[in-house]
Amino acid sequence: MISCQQQAVNSVNIVPEPVQVEIQKGYFSLSEKSLLLFEGTDCAFEQYVRQYFSDYLGLSFSQEKGNEKYGTVIFRLNTDYDKTVGEEGYRLEVNKEGITLTANTHAGLVYALQSLYQLTPADVAKNSPKGIQIPQVKIVDYPRFEWRGSHRDVSRHFFDVEHIKRHLDLMALYKMNKFHWHLTDDHGWRLEIDKYPKLMEIGAWRVDRPGISWAKLKEQEYAPKEGEPSTYGGYYTKEQVRDIINYAAQRGIEVIPEIEIPGHCSEILAAYPEFGCDDFPYYVQIGPYWPPKAILCGGNDKVMTFLKDVIDEMAELFPSEYIHIGGDEAFIESETFKHNWELCPKCQKRIKDLKLKNPEALQGWMICEIEQHAKKHGKKIIGWDEILEGGVTADAIVMYWRGWLGNEPLMEAAHKGNLVISTPTTHCYYDYNQIEEDPNQEGPKRHYLPLEKAYAFDPIPEGLPEEAAKLIIGGQCNLWAEYLYTPKESEYMLLPRLLALSESVWSPVDRKCWEHFVKKLPEQKKRLSALGYNYCDEVGLIREAKFNKNKSDVGNPKMKGSFTYDFANDMYTLRGGGYDMWYERDEFFMVWQEVTGDFKLSAKVAFEGEGAHLLRKMGLMIRESLDEDARHANVSLHGNMLAALQYRMEKGGESKDIRSANQTNQYLIYPEGLAPEQVEENTPIMPDHLMLERVGNKIIMKTGIGSYSDQPDATVEIDLPKKCYVGLFICSHSVDLLETGYFWNVKLE
Ligand SMILES: [Zn+2]
Repeated sequence: MISCQQQAVNSVNIVPEPVQVEIQKGYFSLSEKSLLLFEGTDCAFEQYVRQYFSDYLGLSFSQEKGNEKYGTVIFRLNTDYDKTVGEEGYRLEVNKEGITLTANTHAGLVYALQSLYQLTPADVAKNSPKGIQIPQVKIVDYPRFEWRGSHRDVSRHFFDVEHIKRHLDLMALYKMNKFHWHLTDDHGWRLEIDKYPKLMEIGAWRVDRPGISWAKLKEQEYAPKEGEPSTYGGYYTKEQVRDIINYAAQRGIEVIPEIEIPGHCSEILAAYPEFGCDDFPYYVQIGPYWPPKAILCGGNDKVMTFLKDVIDEMAELFPSEYIHIGGDEAFIESETFKHNWELCPKCQKRIKDLKLKNPEALQGWMICEIEQHAKKHGKKIIGWDEILEGGVTADAIVMYWRGWLGNEPLMEAAHKGNLVISTPTTHCYYDYNQIEEDPNQEGPKRHYLPLEKAYAFDPIPEGLPEEAAKLIIGGQCNLWAEYLYTPKESEYMLLPRLLALSESVWSPVDRKCWEHFVKKLPEQKKRLSALGYNYCDEVGLIREAKFNKNKSDVGNPKMKGSFTYDFANDMYTLRGGGYDMWYERDEFFMVWQEVTGDFKLSAKVAFEGEGAHLLRKMGLMIRESLDEDARHANVSLHGNMLAALQYRMEKGGESKDIRSANQTNQYLIYPEGLAPEQVEENTPIMPDHLMLERVGNKIIMKTGIGSYSDQPDATVEIDLPKKCYVGLFICSHSVDLLETGYFWNVKLE
């Protein structure tokens, strides 16, 4: 392990940090008089290099001007394979005679060129008359991961070809190699498909509400009116797509297209209503669309034909071996509607005919059909991690995104043998805030993902078992575009976090060093400014956790240990019955208590500290087993293993609305707190007493403020084994709290 200090000495300002750098004394002076030579490379590459020198350094090389006595710059494609650097690595040597860049592939040479550029002074005057001083070095460099991805959502807001190319330039500069192009979503279809012209005529356009914030657009008053023209949007023609693919390829970047199915498809249903389950009039969404109702009918053969036709055209257009088929958030149920597939006779018939066990399995069947079809074109499919629930083959690549589930999806993928691309919300969602109070960011408060945390990302999380770790092929950042209206805003969110990611996916673990990275930043920012990119100038830091472990630990000899909460690194959700509750950074499972047989457990909870008044919920969670390291398992679904019986109660109301799902060893019981609008200043909104009594299968709960009420607040029947564990559960459920750092000291009496 190289210490940061050593690294600073043995390093140059290159991001991502190279594998090996040897600095020598002296400089080479690069000018237009130097002789530019290519050995074994193709025309497209040479053209790229010449353009690059011209755009980035103001140097235009020509045969007439070039003279060996001013040194040579040689780009050489190896004739003998250099095993050390492999497919994408390179060697770069600068000495007094000139510069030699060698690699086994064009991509390797592209990366060598980026490193060479980063060796030039960031503030160099273009085509400096004295020549550009480049330090003499020997660099050997190659990537840690084969998948170094950057994703762009062009559906929520549309970005033109020019901007996409600028994005690809940035990717090349930081040696990123997979451009994941999210081309379709509820808010617009962006890909020309010859066979279905209405996708472009209707699906690509939505009613425009200029000047109104995205968040506000969920309000009814802004909903599109009958006959109102759709003027916002656009799509890429096949010719433009080919242009972008070529542009990317020249920079060593592969373009992976994504179409979202079977959910996130309002725009398809707006164009082709016959592909839906119901007669509901769908339109291309104009703002927040949650919970999403639009879903393609799983029982309609025409839908399958449509999807296969689209795959055919995509397979022909995109040379990549991958097609991303989305697959996320198709199964959201809500209190306001039941899932379409449960109501649709066609879907129900398909479920019956195929002997599927539930509507979720219908999604699995659809995805598998598409996967088989894509295979006919020699393509592999990629899907968001929900595709694991459906039964895709082991050839499908899983994009792990649900960071709040911890390692669960990674373990599930390992169990099934699928390769994984790591892109968890916790570290890779660059639409999240990078500084806490950001005047440059519009819209509601968003999750906090500071630069330091982006840098802390490792595609292979610490402690992940080897069988799962070996299936992870890399990492990726995602740039969702709900609040990104312009190229400038997009760059601001991407930068400099993209630089952080590049070190996570390229540099060896022992060459990564946050302190060193921060030192390199000012020079990198100068470079970005020189190239005209917009970036966030503040360095966002991970917040300190303030949890007071000692206080929560006292008072109960039977306590199984306190739950240590890492404020900065956690975000997870509790799922059950299709009902999705988000808790972020504000949830605790303080203590677990082993209980046997019937029991009566009462908790008196005292809150201390600033912000305690913002607490919204307290409850007791019961588990059949207690996995010591299963911090996330405590609150997450693992395949079909877990189910939550969730009891919700309106204040003063009856005990209704018991939700049960396919969980089996976890139960959660709690009274609902008051809604924020019901809270006046100093109103206690949390019960401070909680009693849980088990008699046979019955669980009786009583809560109160100051004392218990006479009547049980809830009685739930649960088939629970004799020995179980009870944990105290507290969370805020308050948006304000997501952005602040309060911690409470809690005692069980
Ligand atoms: Zn249907």
